[in-house]
Amino acid sequence: MIKSAFLGLVIFLLWVFPAGAVEIDVPRDIGRGEPFWVEMASDRKPLDIKVSWLDRSFALPVDLPGRQRILLGAGLERRGIYSLELVFYWDDHRKKKEFLINVKDKVYPEQHLSLPREMVTPPDEVLTRIARERTQIRSALNTLTPDRLWNGEFAYPVPGEVSSPFGVQRFLNNQPRSAHQGVDFRGTEGTPVSAVADGRVVLTGEFYFGGQTVIVDHGLGVHSLYMHLSEIRVDEGDPVSKKQTVGLVGMTGRATGPHLHLGVYVLGDAVDPLYLLSWD
Ligand SMILES: [Zn+2]
Repeated sequence: MIKSAFLGLVIFLLWVFPAGAVEIDVPRDIGRGEPFWVEMASDRKPLDIKVSWLDRSFALPVDLPGRQRILLGAGLERRGIYSLELVFYWDDHRKKKEFLINVKDKVYPEQHLSLPREMVTPPDEVLTRIARERTQIRSALNTLTPDRLWNGEFAYPVPGEVSSPFGVQRFLNNQPRSAHQGVDFRGTEGTPVSAVADGRVVLTGEFYFGGQTVIVDHGLGVHSLYMHLSEIRVDEGDPVSKKQTVGLVGMTGRATGPHLHLGVYVLGDAVDPLYLLSWD
């Protein structure tokens, strides 16, 4: 209660009813493009917990009694009030709670790049390929595996410093393009790129924009994506563990120099990976 009174950031709910008590921590507001945690504590074990956020609903594996948390987020294009609904199922009844989360407009920097014209405006003959690849990547990022495959914090995938942060509004040869949906790390060609957390490889391939790409499914709608690799070291379907090498830094696809583009997606929405990465 002290936390919410001072910061005004967190809704702290103590929910008591005959079957048990539940406490839930939810942020009252976040910036667009930010991930957030929902923390729950209960002294009883519910049979099921259902979560609904951004038009997706899923059953949460129950780790209660005790504490558990779930990672959610809102993409750059979200603004305004969004509903988070949690339903707890007990032996003889269910309890539903709706939280309204204010996704605030957050200002991100602009970046102006000059690239050869053929890379800014792809030639007609690759448009079909680009559309097909976009669908393929989108469908991998929308996978909703009903288990959480990771625990703890996300690890940095490479030691390099950030060369382009998340959310930057890009202008290519003065034309506005979509905002940067991930974070770029500087890295020399051939530097090992490691998985940020445990999971399973859902997609590998060589794409027009992303070059050699790996997508890892961490379960419950959370994915990490690694682009511009010079080499891929895993296969689709492989389980991967945190810090395991998935590929090597390169500059395949649309890249002006060797770097790693890391994306983190929650229920298909790109969120800023730097909120989640830790050196531990
Ligand atoms: Zn990038």
